[in-house]
Amino acid sequence: MTRVLILGGTADARNLARIAAGERGLAHGSTLAGRVRAPVLPEGEVRVGGFGGAEGLRAWLRDNAIDAMVDATHPFAATMSEHAAAAASAAGIPLLHLRRPGWVAARGDSWTRVPALSAAAAGLRGRVFLTIGRQGVSAFAGVADAWFLIRAIDPPEPPLPPRHEILLARGPFAVADEIELLRAHRIDVLVTKDSGGPDTEAKLVAARAVGVPVVMVDRPPLPAGGAPVVATVDGAMEWLRLR
Ligand code: NAP
Repeated sequence: MTRVLILGGTADARNLARIAAGERGLAHGSTLAGRVRAPVLPEGEVRVGGFGGAEGLRAWLRDNAIDAMVDATHPFAATMSEHAAAAASAAGIPLLHLRRPGWVAARGDSWTRVPALSAAAAGLRGRVFLTIGRQGVSAFAGVADAWFLIRAIDPPEPPLPPRHEILLARGPFAVADEIELLRAHRIDVLVTKDSGGPDTEAKLVAARAVGVPVVMVDRPPLPAGGAPVVATVDGAMEWLRLR
C-alpha cells in the first residue's frame, strides 16, 4: 500500500482525492490550511491546520509513514509549496506539484499583467471588481482613488480600502451572472490573480463581453527543488500509479 499525502485547498485536490479513493494500492489523506470557515471537504481522511513549517511537515511525513506527496495547493500558496519541496527532500520522499494552467488572454481581451498585488494596487482608480480572494486585500488598503467591489468566500480582514462593498460568494460562477454584476456595479476594471481553472473563469469572459479591462496578477514561481509538475488530475494519478 502506498501512503500518499495530498496538500489541498483546490478543486483539483478534491478531484484527486476522489479518484485516489477508488484506486487499489493507494491510501491517501488530504490536508487543508483551515482558512475557509466551511470548506468543501475532500473524500477520505482530512487534516486541518498547518504543520509548523517545513520541519513540522517533515516530522509529520515521517510519523505517518508517508511514501509520496502531491502538492495540489492553489498556485498562489507559495509558502506551502516551498515547505513541501524542503520537507520532501529532507524526508527523502517523492513530490509532485499539481498546477492547473494559468489563464491565457483571448481576442478582445484587454489585460495588464503585473508581478504582485502591490503592483496591481498602484495607480488604481474608478470602480474596481477585486476578485483575489480574502487574503491580500490589505494590499489595496491605501488606494483612496477607487471604489472596490470585493468578492470572497469569507469576509476579508482589515485593513481594507476606504471605499468598498463586500460580496460573499463561492464559485463556480456563470458568465451571464458575471456580466450582470459588472453592469449593475458599473465596474471600470477587474483585478484578479492568475488562478486558472474553469470555476472562476466566467468573470474573464464577462469582462471581454462588456469591454472591462483586467489587471492580472502573475503567479509566484514554483520552488526551485526540481520536483515534477503536472497540469491535470489525470497526470497526477499517472504519477501516483508509478510510486
Ligand atoms: P501559503 O501562504 O502558501 O501557506 C501559509 C501556511 O499555511 C503554510 O506555511 C502552512 O502552515 C499552511 N498551509 C497552507 N496550505 C496548507 C495545506 N494545504 N495544508 C496544511 N497547511 C497548509 O498558503 P495560502 O495562500 O494561505 O493558502 C492556504 C490554503 O488555501 C492552501 O491550502 C491553498 O491551496 C488554499 N487556497 C489559496 C488561495 C490563494 O489565493 N492563496 C486560493 C484558494 C485556495 P505551516 O507552515 O504551519 O505548515
